[in-house]
Amino acid sequence: MSHLMNTYGRQPVAFSHGEGVWVWDTEGKRYLDALAGIAVNTLGHAHPKLTKVLTEQVGRLMHTSNLYRITAQELAADRIAAISGMDRVFFCNSGCEANEAAIKLARLYGHNKGIELPSIIVMDQAFHGRTLATLSATGNTKVHKGFEPLVPGFVRVPFNDIEAVRDVAARDKSVVAVLVEPIQGEGGINVSTLEYLRALRAECDKHGWLLMLDEVQCGIGRTGKWFAYQHGSVMPDVITLAKGLASGVPIGACVAHGAAADVFKPGNHGSTFGGNPLAATAALATLDIIAEDKLMENAVKTGAIIREGMAAALSATPGLKQIRGMGLMLGIELDRPCGELVDIARDAGLLINVTVENVIRLLPPLVLSEAEAKEIVERLASLVKTFLGKPQPATARG
Ligand SMILES: *Cc1c(COP(=O)(O)O)cnc(C)c1O
Repeated sequence: MSHLMNTYGRQPVAFSHGEGVWVWDTEGKRYLDALAGIAVNTLGHAHPKLTKVLTEQVGRLMHTSNLYRITAQELAADRIAAISGMDRVFFCNSGCEANEAAIKLARLYGHNKGIELPSIIVMDQAFHGRTLATLSATGNTKVHKGFEPLVPGFVRVPFNDIEAVRDVAARDKSVVAVLVEPIQGEGGINVSTLEYLRALRAECDKHGWLLMLDEVQCGIGRTGKWFAYQHGSVMPDVITLAKGLASGVPIGACVAHGAAADVFKPGNHGSTFGGNPLAATAALATLDIIAEDKLMENAVKTGAIIREGMAAALSATPGLKQIRGMGLMLGIELDRPCGELVDIARDAGLLINVTVENVIRLLPPLVLSEAEAKEIVERLASLVKTFLGKPQPATARG
């Protein structure tokens, strides 16, 4: 019996080391990693510059607590402010913690305005994490099940539907914020339209709400800009970051702008580990390397190779519904459940993910080369063709 709690249906493979977009399992088999630890390994595996900086930091100082000033944390906050146009950063250790901070910030902002029981508008298919507040904000009822009572104070609306938000505004005076992923990741790579984000900004301005964008998965260069909201030149009040921010060292950040930046006062929120010298150094190095090595431009270029390559290879294949996403955050929707493709691809030396049962999700490291992007297309397209060519079981027929 395993002594691990039974929280994951794990794949029967363990990895021993990696280099760039490649990882090796303990038997010596090599895989092309098109998932990057779920959008975490921004710089791929064992990036020489990051390895050097982190090794030096581990030998010098890892943790001191937030009872003291932490130089690397201050520098990382400066850098995040510079690339986002936001004002202040709170560091924590994960995406759900970043969203917890945003939810607390929105509630306190509401209380400061005299709203006793503030609520936050959230979306269908949203994913915000697994803590009690963030699972309550999450749209998938499978994530809620068994953990009721849910945390109150969330009003759910359909994604990309501004009229639904206006309807809530007309009847509910307790709303203080909107929390939305510019691109829903776990929900199936659903891209919010630029008009929708702009209309949300206008609605938030009209009612004095905070526009809070969960960029935990889509942020940090993955879509071709530092943050997905920058494609639409919409300025948020709060953004949350985590996955790709430190290339594998656990980190999260809640970043605020304008009035939202001054809501928290000493005693309102905290974290023992958050932004410690190791994590903050990893974040700074990750952001440095993304800029120096032009990895955002690379995400656009290699993302287009995968997108266009898959579209061309599968154009005549019945069963492909849509290919969507931006940069290196891509979803390939099929007309049937395709979870078994994860195992088929792994056997063929390719690491991918399937979400919402029928969307193949690709989140490769941003260091992916053009040749490696083409190799993802070659390997994946033939597997998908074979999969779609198989006779479907009666239950899967729509
Ligand atoms: C992964 C994810 C989270 C949760 O992050 P954890 O680090 O697993 O807590 C929150 N929001 C989005 C959009 C995510 O993709």
